[in-house]
Amino acid sequence: MKKIPLRHYGDLLVTYLRPQWVKAAWLLTLLLGNIGLQLLNPQIVRHFIDVAMGTDTGAANTLLLTALLFVGVGLAQQLVSAFTTYFSADVGWAATNMLRADLAKHVLRLDMTFHNGTVPGQLIERIDGDVTLLSTFFSEFVIKVLGSLILLVGVLGLLWLEDWRVSLALMIFALGALLLLNQIRNIAIPALSDERQATANLFGFVEERLAGIEDIRANGGGAYSMRRFFEVSRDLLQKAWRASVMRTLIWMITMFMFTLGVTVSLTVGAFLFTQRSISLGTVYLFFQYSLLLRSPIEQISRQLQELQKAAAGIGRVQQLREVKSTIRDGQAAELPGGALSVLFQDVSFGYNSADMVLKNINFRLQPGQVLGVLGRTGSGKSTLTRLLFRLYDPTTGEIRLGGVPTQDVALSDLRGRIGMVTQEVQLFHATVRDNLTFFDSSVADERILAVLQDLGLQSWFAGLTDGLDTWLQAGAGGLSAGEAQLLACGRVFLKEPGLVILDEPSSRLDPATESLIERAVDKLLHQRTGLIIAHRLATVQRADLIMVVEAGHIVELGPREVLANDPGSHFYHLLQTADSKELIAVS
Ligand code: ATP
Ligand code: MG
Repeated sequence: MKKIPLRHYGDLLVTYLRPQWVKAAWLLTLLLGNIGLQLLNPQIVRHFIDVAMGTDTGAANTLLLTALLFVGVGLAQQLVSAFTTYFSADVGWAATNMLRADLAKHVLRLDMTFHNGTVPGQLIERIDGDVTLLSTFFSEFVIKVLGSLILLVGVLGLLWLEDWRVSLALMIFALGALLLLNQIRNIAIPALSDERQATANLFGFVEERLAGIEDIRANGGGAYSMRRFFEVSRDLLQKAWRASVMRTLIWMITMFMFTLGVTVSLTVGAFLFTQRSISLGTVYLFFQYSLLLRSPIEQISRQLQELQKAAAGIGRVQQLREVKSTIRDGQAAELPGGALSVLFQDVSFGYNSADMVLKNINFRLQPGQVLGVLGRTGSGKSTLTRLLFRLYDPTTGEIRLGGVPTQDVALSDLRGRIGMVTQEVQLFHATVRDNLTFFDSSVADERILAVLQDLGLQSWFAGLTDGLDTWLQAGAGGLSAGEAQLLACGRVFLKEPGLVILDEPSSRLDPATESLIERAVDKLLHQRTGLIIAHRLATVQRADLIMVVEAGHIVELGPREVLANDPGSHFYHLLQTADSKELIAVS
């Protein structure tokens, strides 16, 4: 992996710390206070030793006062230290949560091409796992590295006042140590990044298998899944082992250096003491200050390890932020009000460039017309509707709604004007109200109730314990397929769209629910343009035009009545082969 430019770290800090600058300022103040107190304490001890070694009479009082001062300063330092920790965690978590929210928003806006290629487990690891690593970066890294640097400068400065030679020796040592650390800074990143990627793979794998557990069991795929699980786990083990070796290496280098530092200060101190140029208290001061050097150097090294972890996270977070939707939001154009006309002009589309799912689709719907689309499974019917919504853009050709190219209309406007009941209705773990309004709190309860009444759902609704506030389960929502379809029709009603798309489920419903849905669809289509993908011929009864699709081509398109009476047409043939019940309904 390439080295991450320092600018990225800075950008992140500025973006996410600026909103909480007051707390950040407090944090800085506490940090400086903490360092001041740490520097003060060895001075007190030095004074104590020198007084004790002296021949002064009446020194006992001074000694006692010095000792009390020592204890007081020590306690104060602990207190300041505790507050520093509190503030840094607070600031860090606030910053990370902001980043997490931004990322989640970004990912939600990405188009289907991205989501088709990314399993949910991977995204969770990216938005939650990686960002948690970053929280350490925000809450600890800056504070500790900044604090350590100031402490380092403070110690060396005070030593300079005592004896420039000691200070110089330790300064050279500290500089060398830091340079070395800086050099090895990025060595471990690839190994750590691999480790996290392997973790993401494992999560993604488990998530996918759990989602498909019924199919795996039913088809005897258990043994294969377990084998794959072992492979993915083994990969993680190898990568984690390599990452851990890297971390240990950096730790060992730091330990070695710090031992060297204390040796240097003791040697120089002993030499100067034997020369009688410094007091015993000052030797102690040298020793104590060189011990003080240990903490910042160690801290910097540890934080660099954290940074390496965070760097892998920052790298991938940055990658994710750079993923752009291939679907560009339209700007200026506005859709006309009322029922919308639909025009497909030479539209071809494939999910990948290799094979086209739709080929040269041309058709026109006048406002208020209803088109019934028929075709075998996999012929491209649902794909047609996804293009209208701009979940994908056509590879070639153009789609116009109300005469306006869909690519020129703002996505929110476009999607707001099309109502769709999908083949597999997805309900959310939320209240009935939120499931109907899609969390739009501006919709009045009376309107929702009226829609439920319209749909013939009143008896179902009467059975709910909490009315509109009843919670539904995710997925099918604990509802029958028919009820879920009806609720989805309700969503479309509340939206008042200019174009209604109904992708009929291929599964059969019981006759009572079916007739409820028929009624709901009739109402939905009233004074609206409609596109119905029908699996039952009864549904296309209300269509003005019929389109038959085969392997992405339109093989037939014309007025329903004309086709129904033309013995040469596909539609006529379909009517003949359909079972008697459906046939009666159509003719
Ligand atoms: P059904 O009647 O079963 O609902 P359909 O006519 O709606 O079928 P589509 O869902 O439009 O069929 O699919 C058309 C083709 O595109 C199929 O061959 C399908 O495998 C392929 N396809 C559908 N969705 C995707 C996707 N997200 N990525 C890649 N290929 C896809
Ligand atoms: Mg379909």
